Amino acid sequence: MEAGKYSMGIGDRFAMQAEAQLAAIQKASDNGIDIIPVWNKSNREHSTIGSHPAQTREAAEAAVKKLGWDKPWFVDADHINLDTVDNYVEHCNFFTIDVADYIGTQAISTDIERFASANTPFAGSLFIPGLDEQITVSMDMIKEIAGKFLFAIQQAGKIYRHIESKKGKGNFITEISMDEVTEAQSPLEMFFILSAIAAEGIPVQTIAPKFTGRFNKGVDYEGDVALFEREFEQDLLVIDFAIQAFGLPSDLKLSVHSGSDKFSIYPVIGKLIRKHNKGIHVKTAGTTWLEEAIGLALAGGEALQLVKDIYAESMGRFDELCGPYSTVIDIDKTRLPEPQEVMGWNGETLASSLRHIPGHPLYNPGMRQLMHVAYKLAAERKDIFTTLLAQNKELVAQQVTENIYGRHLKRLFDL
Ligand SMILES: [Zn+2]
Repeated sequence: MEAGKYSMGIGDRFAMQAEAQLAAIQKASDNGIDIIPVWNKSNREHSTIGSHPAQTREAAEAAVKKLGWDKPWFVDADHINLDTVDNYVEHCNFFTIDVADYIGTQAISTDIERFASANTPFAGSLFIPGLDEQITVSMDMIKEIAGKFLFAIQQAGKIYRHIESKKGKGNFITEISMDEVTEAQSPLEMFFILSAIAAEGIPVQTIAPKFTGRFNKGVDYEGDVALFEREFEQDLLVIDFAIQAFGLPSDLKLSVHSGSDKFSIYPVIGKLIRKHNKGIHVKTAGTTWLEEAIGLALAGGEALQLVKDIYAESMGRFDELCGPYSTVIDIDKTRLPEPQEVMGWNGETLASSLRHIPGHPLYNPGMRQLMHVAYKLAAERKDIFTTLLAQNKELVAQQVTENIYGRHLKRLFDL
């Protein structure tokens, strides 16, 4: 199975927007850029909402049928580990094995020694084609990197083999993610991580490192764009070299998690993947839920009131909602409007505060991030929320499609 050169992870928390999401990808295809849709949903999201991977698959399947999509598509078991994978096995054909929690745990010392000696050929001056400078690598550096990552990749191997035993080799895409950590992995670390992945026999097709800078959910990149550009290019070159050196799948590509809304680095990513003729997987956060909230705000009446109520409650339950997302959100509480104030707003004002249009005077990134993690509160009102979505289907779908196509795909692929 192949994820194609370009693929996009789309999250659909309430499984009602698959068609509107696919419409955006169809639009890109009509304009000459083929992108494979991948519907992703993590266990955290499923348990918050009370949904099951079977529903994600059904919704995607229905959208594919309705729009007559005849290219590949996938359902991603997002951020799974051994404890959570079994729920997904039957319904998914893309597995994101998350090793973030295992990073830093030491593998047994004989394994570290064995790994280091297997990688002896890369000690000394490491020349990676395309990189300006050679990298000096000592055996101690290799051991240090192994100490940090080898155990995590051994765990990934266990999870991979578990999935393979159930689904059969070659019947699914394997991604390895390590983005939900505080420290970015350097290109050299990435190189030896790929060495360990190959040694585990994992046919990894996408890899999601933690890049330099902040990748907060639903808002723009925060960090040094020039540094990001340098590291991203180094990662592309390291992957190319690792494919040759370790015999990894030739279509192995980078995956950018929390990749929605990173408008300031899309031109950089687009430029570099075109320069090096590489693929990319961009996994958007579940920002489709925000577009649902925006659509409901614009609908006015009961729908607008529901969005206001959710915002008001999210202020009261701030720590509970933000806690699980602490590495991927960054909210300046002092810039959040008081709920009483928001109660007086019209739909357009609320929509403009939540909608990500850089430079728009009403756009409020803190409010957007808080609402992003407040989908739990919509889930607590699931009946009325989904009823209102159904009643305002067209208006909501417009927001969803425009967000993915107009603000994301256009920027990324220079459409
Ligand atoms: Zn992630």
